[in-house]
Amino acid sequence: MKFPFRYAVILLLALLAGCAAQGRLPPNATTPASRPGPVLLVSIDAFRADYINRGLTPTLTMLAKTGVHAAALQPAFPSLTFPNHYTLVTGLYPDHHGIVNNTMFDAQLGKFSLGNRKAVSDGRWWAEGTPIWEDADAHGLRTATMFWPGSEADIHGKHPDYWKPYNGKITADQRVDQVLAWLDLPPAERPRFLTLYFDEVDHAGHAHGPDSPEVDAALRDTDAALARLVAGLKARGLYDRVNLIVLADHGMASVPKENNVYIDKLIPLDAVHVVSLEIVAGFNPRAGHDFAAIEKQLEAPQQHMQCWDKTRIPARFHYGTNPRVPQLVCLADVGWRITTTASAARRGDRVSIGNHGYDNADPTMRALFIAHGPAFRQGITWPEFPNVDVYPLMTHLLGIPADRNDGDFDAVKGMLVGGARD
Ligand SMILES: [Zn+2]
Repeated sequence: MKFPFRYAVILLLALLAGCAAQGRLPPNATTPASRPGPVLLVSIDAFRADYINRGLTPTLTMLAKTGVHAAALQPAFPSLTFPNHYTLVTGLYPDHHGIVNNTMFDAQLGKFSLGNRKAVSDGRWWAEGTPIWEDADAHGLRTATMFWPGSEADIHGKHPDYWKPYNGKITADQRVDQVLAWLDLPPAERPRFLTLYFDEVDHAGHAHGPDSPEVDAALRDTDAALARLVAGLKARGLYDRVNLIVLADHGMASVPKENNVYIDKLIPLDAVHVVSLEIVAGFNPRAGHDFAAIEKQLEAPQQHMQCWDKTRIPARFHYGTNPRVPQLVCLADVGWRITTTASAARRGDRVSIGNHGYDNADPTMRALFIAHGPAFRQGITWPEFPNVDVYPLMTHLLGIPADRNDGDFDAVKGMLVGGARD
């Protein structure tokens, strides 16, 4: 039996090699077992870890029960969208990848904010990190992003092979259909690493708070889009081949309208440069003013917030060495916002009554993590872990070396088939 079997294997490999060389492998044909399936990273912005217990997301519950479900994914500090999405694809703390806030100032590059398309798409802001799509490209793997912070930027001169400029009007179903269309490409063009991003849950959380019927509706809608994805993968014979990771960047806390810390009542605002406000406020010195005195004033115990000179930020935040971190950082207590009298008056009722950015160890900031696919064990629960570990997990799944990063593959490899024995 030995010889015929060996011949059969050689014949099969030769056939597959021949087909591949001539580009005749039909879409989604079974590839040699040594070639891992695609990795699809799905982010549901602000899906707090406990939202899954509301009983509104049957698809997620099914994936959790048949894959790996972590009690929570701990965001990096600050628990904001851009810093954490870039941490997920680089394995670096925001302090190390340079996207230290959604709103930043850089001495050379000027101002960065989410609505500033020029800054968001300028690769120089992102260049301190190397996103996983760049690593994959260096190893000959195609990549595709159905939205992801950083994917619009020419980081080190490169984008993912397939990417889209962010457009909130593209529906969740359309996003799913685009990912499926990329998976239908001929093998030579088909991406091996893909992202998919949903933001309805975040918007509802900001506008109506985490305990609102609007968040519940967004959870149902997003789960329906995931059901469409699962059905689409099954129809293509890919459901059991794709390593699917569904996670969130951070959670969401309720912030009553009146919970304002008015910074202008504590310090003269014209004595500083205000870099950011809201949950993580940042201030830089202004020439001709005594910044040391302002620091002394704000670093003294405050109501509903804590301030530090950037060199004195607690070590557990891994934050403060990057030149883009403002000299003085103030963090609101959970459930509070840092604002000014003028800004609060201008916004009136248009204030976010749900928010994030807080202490990343706070339970309200905990994020979803579910993984499902051939590489993952089935039906296991996993303790809360930091999101810097997701990047080395994904490079392992892709079979490519990880760049220098702050994560720890050994800490998460136990969620993989055979990983516990490695
Ligand atoms: Zn948000």
